Amino acid sequence: MHISIIGTGYIGSVTGACFADMGHHVIFVGRDQKKLDLIRAGKSPIFEPGLDQLLTKNRKNIETATDLSETVQRTDLTFICVGTPPKKDGSSDLSQVEVVSKTIGKSLGSHTKYHTIITKSTVLPGTAEDFIIPLLEKESGKKASVDFGISSNPEFLKEGTAVEDFFHTDRVVIGVQDQRTREILETLYSPLNVPIFTTTIRTSEMIKFASNAFLATKISFANEIGNLCKASGIDSYDVFTGVGLDTRINPKFFRSGLGFGGSCFPKDVNALIAHARSKGIDPIILHSVIETNEDQPRRMIDLLKKHLDPKGHTIGILGLAFKPDTDDIRESRAIPVIRLLLQAGAKVSVYDPEAMGNFRELFPDISYAVSGLEVLASDAVLIITEWKEFESLDYHGKLVIDGRRIEKALREAAVYEGMCW
Ligand code: NAD
Repeated sequence: MHISIIGTGYIGSVTGACFADMGHHVIFVGRDQKKLDLIRAGKSPIFEPGLDQLLTKNRKNIETATDLSETVQRTDLTFICVGTPPKKDGSSDLSQVEVVSKTIGKSLGSHTKYHTIITKSTVLPGTAEDFIIPLLEKESGKKASVDFGISSNPEFLKEGTAVEDFFHTDRVVIGVQDQRTREILETLYSPLNVPIFTTTIRTSEMIKFASNAFLATKISFANEIGNLCKASGIDSYDVFTGVGLDTRINPKFFRSGLGFGGSCFPKDVNALIAHARSKGIDPIILHSVIETNEDQPRRMIDLLKKHLDPKGHTIGILGLAFKPDTDDIRESRAIPVIRLLLQAGAKVSVYDPEAMGNFRELFPDISYAVSGLEVLASDAVLIITEWKEFESLDYHGKLVIDGRRIEKALREAAVYEGMCW
């Protein structure tokens, strides 16, 4: 098939590269010429394991473009992979989706072939029916599910293992409202040999939010119990090993510690809260999930203060990315931790294997070390991201506050505080 991918960020670049690897002809449509040039050269615009190789290997199946309207005309399917960032009140900013929907709609007006538009961006339940379809129909003068196909296909991949997750996902969720679109999407995904759950568009949109809200809840639950474990002299990792052996519960997403960040969990939980409120529902659990998460950085600084007043001291930070194997710093827990340290009068020295470039834009005035080793020369060290290379540093004689459970630090540090253990 001929596929347009709109957006060359974390989701667009991975989705497009994976479809190209499945043998489809993919045109990436972007606004950033630098990112498009990288893709055309077979290089990933983001740090994501395996993505460079996939783009290089499939260069013959890949094109790039800036003209969305013309690209729609040349393809059978268009995947919307643009951002849906949070607004101040927590609700989703749909302006990027609006712009591309209007352009696709205009293009569809003069399109002679049948074309299917698929939303991969995370959008709240009802967005396709109440927002995207009306825009497409108005601009094209055509009818959705009659003259063109429309689908919602939320994405569940995890940054850091995104390529692996695409090909070996637990499930593909497809939201459709007509048989023809259902067949197109099921045919597209059937080579993956993974469970495909096809449902209504509105339901598929809700599945994405319910999944993320549940995973975020699991983490905040682990942190709440973990904080209690810490106060009671219990290792929460042992507790959740025991709890996770229950097959009704499962052991994943029980790593208690500094809490979750990233572009999805905080944004999506807050958007769901705003959505619930707009329906007259007060989502008590979801509020608590965010509150617990927001409080973990403060707890980390309190643990540090038990041993050292940060004022005037140099505090080392290991890890800036919101998780290992990505350069993504959106909502990284490093951000509130460093803000609290600066407020307390500390000097801050940081290191991350991939995310320093992105972080420098946010905090230009802190000190960027060339290695983890350099950071270890600080008066105290805070572990924010569990990069594998931090497992091989020498922590002997150090004061370490660990938000992510680096076993070597736990064994070697002179003074060691785990957040929930
Ligand atoms: P991103 O900010 O990395 O990428 C969005 C891209 O869209 C940017 O490159 C931007 O330039 C591009 N864009 C915006 N308007 C455009 C236009 N008019 N024409 C062409 N390109 C345009 O965001 P992301 O992390 O890739 O997320 C995209 C969507 O996928 C969001 O809705 C997000 O919630 C969802 N999602 C993300 C993840 C994740 O792990 N990052 C996982 C699942 C779902």
